[in-house]
Amino acid sequence: MLQEAAHDILILGGGPAGLSTALHLAQLAPDLIPRILVLEKAHYPRPKLCAGGLLADAEVILQRLGLDVGEIAHVDVEAAHLDFAGKGLVITQPNGHMLRVIRRDEFDNWLAAKVEAAGIQIRQGVTVRGLQLRDDCVIVDTEQGTFTARVAVGADGSNGVTRRCILPNAPVHTARALEVLAPPHPTPRSKDFGEGAESRDRIAYFDFFCVPSGIAGYTWDFPTQLNGQPMRCWGIYDTNVLAGLQRPPLKQPLDEEMRRHGADLNDVEIKGYPIRWFSPNNRMSVPRVVLAGDAVGADPIFGEGISIALGYGALAAGEISASFRRGNFSFSGYKSRVLRSALGQTLLARWAIAQILYRLRWGWAQRFFWRSLGWFINASSRVLVLNWGKRMPSIHPPGFGEL
Ligand SMILES: Cc1cc2nc3c(=O)[nH]c(=O)nc-3n(C[C@H](O)[C@H](O)[C@H](O)COP(=O)(O)OP(=O)(O)OC[C@H]3O[C@@H](n4cnc5c(N)ncnc54)[C@H](O)[C@@H]3O)c2cc1C
Repeated sequence: MLQEAAHDILILGGGPAGLSTALHLAQLAPDLIPRILVLEKAHYPRPKLCAGGLLADAEVILQRLGLDVGEIAHVDVEAAHLDFAGKGLVITQPNGHMLRVIRRDEFDNWLAAKVEAAGIQIRQGVTVRGLQLRDDCVIVDTEQGTFTARVAVGADGSNGVTRRCILPNAPVHTARALEVLAPPHPTPRSKDFGEGAESRDRIAYFDFFCVPSGIAGYTWDFPTQLNGQPMRCWGIYDTNVLAGLQRPPLKQPLDEEMRRHGADLNDVEIKGYPIRWFSPNNRMSVPRVVLAGDAVGADPIFGEGISIALGYGALAAGEISASFRRGNFSFSGYKSRVLRSALGQTLLARWAIAQILYRLRWGWAQRFFWRSLGWFINASSRVLVLNWGKRMPSIHPPGFGEL
């Protein structure tokens, strides 16, 4: 087994969380750049099951890094419908698109190229098998050899090895998600706005009709593209906040929703993947290792995790650069600093909302919530769910991560 040269920082996993950590470190601590290594088990562009909906907060974080996601293929979504059984409220952003939908293979490949352009090395095709913590280092065992570092970042996603190694007994809060890619609606959704078909193609639909049947989540229907051809991405998400109750199958309600709109689940390939969601009880670090992205937890309401992973990357980088300045790698204050940040505040709010929203299992309650409280949901989502990116610490945070 090969013994690799020691590094200062090993980033385990090259998804949005790991790549954002790398990019933020390159800006915060350029002296560390040659001593950072990202280990990624796949080769870019690699598949990642994800609907690819980017909220404006993701774009804000990328812009602060000097990056414009408009460089890659995308579909701009003008409005999001939040419905119960086909009827509810519409959310828009005043000065732009509501969502930008990207393909994850393309997005992650683009972001990885930016990391390499910043001078940070990515080793692709290296699968982490385990970690050993020592007083003075972390030893990372991979299928391709052993790596040693002063600090490691666990950014290896919902099923990550890092979290399982460093926090073997931590509770698992995991949602289920199924996703399919289908041709555009054969018949446009009839009762949508009076606008043209092109406009309807730029709407993302979320429908919570499945909550009364015990699924603590929703179905989605997003516009997307594949090799420049318009497509729709459909899926279903069950947050599992009602853990302990029997978990109903997901395929049948997704099939129901797709049929209602003229699409057929039997014609397409169904894929599933778990999403680990944020809970205030989740631990986020041990001495010499910090976690970021799904390894800590995504948004519990929607399973939205790309902007969240980019945000964790900013915070993890701030914490690590401060730890090198002071020569203390305990990371004992990481969790409280995450919780006090704008990212932590939105995650706490979303966790609380998910606990309440998905316990309202009566049809009349969901109907009333989505159809009659539009003004309230619209206003509160702008404060509690959206617009946190602007309130994140700037790239050169005064004292973020200091003791
Ligand atoms: C069906 C579905 C739909 C979704 N839709 C959306 C959406 O529309 N919008 C949104 O914001 N979020 C969405 N999400 C959530 C989003 O995909 C995740 O929150 C996001 O990918 C988290 O980023 P991450 O970097 O933490 O983890 P990941 O993106 O999972 O990246 C982890 C990386 O680590 C690598 N890795 C894993 N194990 C190892 C190992 N042992 N050794 C080395 N490398 C390893 C992986 O190859 C991967 O590159 C969706 C998720 C699912 C499942």
